[in-house]
Amino acid sequence: MKVEDVRLEKVIARPGDRFPEPKAGEFPFVGRSNVGKSSLLNALLGKKVAFVSKNPGKTRSINYYLINHKFYFVDLPGYGYAKVSKKEREEWRKIIERYFHERDWNIKTVFSLIDSRHELMDSDTQLLGWLQSLGIQPTVVLTKVDKLSSTERNRQLSYFERVLPEFGVEHWIPCSSVTGENLEKIWTVIVEKLEV
Ligand code: GDP
Repeated sequence: MKVEDVRLEKVIARPGDRFPEPKAGEFPFVGRSNVGKSSLLNALLGKKVAFVSKNPGKTRSINYYLINHKFYFVDLPGYGYAKVSKKEREEWRKIIERYFHERDWNIKTVFSLIDSRHELMDSDTQLLGWLQSLGIQPTVVLTKVDKLSSTERNRQLSYFERVLPEFGVEHWIPCSSVTGENLEKIWTVIVEKLEV
């Protein structure tokens, strides 16, 4: 898909903020802080819309980007950053729960980002388990594969092949925002889901 127009349509920062009109659907992106979510959004869109941070765990808003006047990418706040307080973690949970409860019906697929270099962390398994309990089957994006040697890559891919189905996940895409590897596969998923 050719990205011709991207605009930050809506920022949801407070409990009373209203979600935007549905358009053709929405694709939320969620993952641990520092997983590479902003880099992925920028790479997919071919421009810098999301802020690549050296100071993770800061964004607490839900940002709606309207693509080609048709559908949304939804940048959800990152989770699992070790340095945030319990209160902040609780706030994250509330924001994210509100999002899925209010927008479930308009979601085409959830892109759940996981760092390809590591095993799943507690916060990842919590999110995947929670999505599974809501009946949502995410498309997992394994980020930063360019950082893996071919041996590490094989080992990590067999690890994910083993654990992801335990959470009902059937589709995962290893990719890199640096080399652009497999970004077109993410676009293929988006185009397919929009056609359904
Ligand atoms: P976010 O906190 O999830 O939005 O993560 P960012 O996009 O800000 O990225 C966190 C760090 O990982 C930054 O230093 C990025 O440059 C780096 N990064 C993100 N994606 C990739 C990737 O695909 N390959 C490599 N090598 N580094 C990446």
